[in-house]
Amino acid sequence: MNDFDIPQECDNTPPRMEIVVPCYNEKEAFPHCLKVLGEVLCNLISTQKIGAGSKIIFVDDGSKDDTWDQIKEACQKNTFVSGIKLSKNRGHQNALIAGLANTTADVVVSIDADLQDDVRCIETMVEKYQEGNDIVYGVRDDRSTDSAFKRISANLFYSLMEKMGVNQVSNHADYRLMSRKAVDCLLTFKEQNMYIRGIVPLLGFNSARVYYSRDDRVAGESKYPLKKMLSLAVEGITSLTITPLRMISALGFITCLISIITAIYTIFEKITGSTVEGWTSVMISIIFLGGVQLLCLGVIGEYVGKIYIETKGRPRFFVEEKRGDNNEFK
Ligand code: UDP
Ligand code: MG
Repeated sequence: MNDFDIPQECDNTPPRMEIVVPCYNEKEAFPHCLKVLGEVLCNLISTQKIGAGSKIIFVDDGSKDDTWDQIKEACQKNTFVSGIKLSKNRGHQNALIAGLANTTADVVVSIDADLQDDVRCIETMVEKYQEGNDIVYGVRDDRSTDSAFKRISANLFYSLMEKMGVNQVSNHADYRLMSRKAVDCLLTFKEQNMYIRGIVPLLGFNSARVYYSRDDRVAGESKYPLKKMLSLAVEGITSLTITPLRMISALGFITCLISIITAIYTIFEKITGSTVEGWTSVMISIIFLGGVQLLCLGVIGEYVGKIYIETKGRPRFFVEEKRGDNNEFK
């Protein structure tokens, strides 16, 4: 507490906000998404929670349906909408990065187009930002809308990450608010396949959480089939920790110990003259060790592959077209 009441510099101007929405084949969900997010934006501007000039940036991630046509139309009709079209489908994380790279606002919120995440949290996120947090995570406190498989696999993944020492916010996907500072810092990470939700906690800024329960998709199907989900999980693990490599070393060490014991036992059996049987044990050893070795090679291969991809340093995406009536839009 100050002894004297010295007037502190105080800026009451509400922060300008940009909402980044990656869209891939979202023709069914887009109209609803535009309407709901438009209402949220207007409400927040009129109550002066956020500044005038706040907007929504839709990123079309190389959709094959008419999502981009809908985005273009929305840009024509609404001054608060901008659009970016990527030249091809580069995946959710890259689409999000493309959107973030084109923001200029004081605060940026990222949200999925299917509005499974509760948009009412945006207001709370702004409040938490005003309290001095550079990052506000949207965290699901209920997974009842997920299939049993997704629920179990997600829980397994988060506990595995935790065991490997990765500091990740459990049950947080990519629904979050970030200050300009946080976005700029995030954009300095140049990884090819960025696992954004794992990188954001590494920024180290003040953060807060907002809890919500996730709804079903408003329309359309999930754009994250099992294959994409698995590759995101592998990406998350290999980009944030080398624990699997250490586990391989530990496994190798244990296997060596076992083989020394087995060797001593075999020699002992040989000396005592009872070496007739043994086919089963030989087969089991060969199969087991072969399997373990292949698994280990696979894990090492994941990391080697990652090094190979990173060394090429290829661009993460190309922007084919931009729409939106805003001078600041890069
Ligand atoms: N998405 C994307 N590119 C892709 C896959 C998904 O931009 O290759 C977008 C999608 O349009 C949505 C968000 O990423 O806005 C999350 O996808 P989805 O809701 O299908 O994932 P789920 O909630 O089923 O995990
Ligand atoms: Mg979804």
